[in-house]
This record gives sequence, C-alpha cells and structure tokens, in this order.
Amino acid sequence: MSNNTKKPEADYSFKHEEDRPAKRNCLNCGTKFKSEGWGNRLCPTCRSRSSASMAA
Ligand SMILES: [Zn+2]
Repeated sequence: MSNNTKKPEADYSFKHEEDRPAKRNCLNCGTKFKSEGWGNRLCPTCRSRSSASMAA
C-alpha cells in the first residue's frame, strides 16, 4: 500500500494553446464570449438554444 495520496495538479503547460480558457468568437453568431476550452466554440446563448432544441 502507498501513502502517497497526492493527486496530479492541473498543468496547462503541456496543453495546446487552444485548449485553454480564452475569449473566442461564437461559431454560430460571432459574439465574443469566454470559451472554457477546446470544443467550446458556441456562446452561452447559442449553446442553450441548441440544447433546448434537442430537448425531447
Ligand atoms: Zn452564439
């Protein structure tokens, strides 16, 4: 058994520049918003809109 319960801390140094929180333009409406990272290319408005349209 190991007493080492340390968890690896978030290290952004090895991540791609695009995979960091940054301001981006929404792919849908072009509005500037704060992206949370890779894969987050829609502003909150468009995201809520798309998720709402997907609701059953
Ligand atoms: Zn948008």
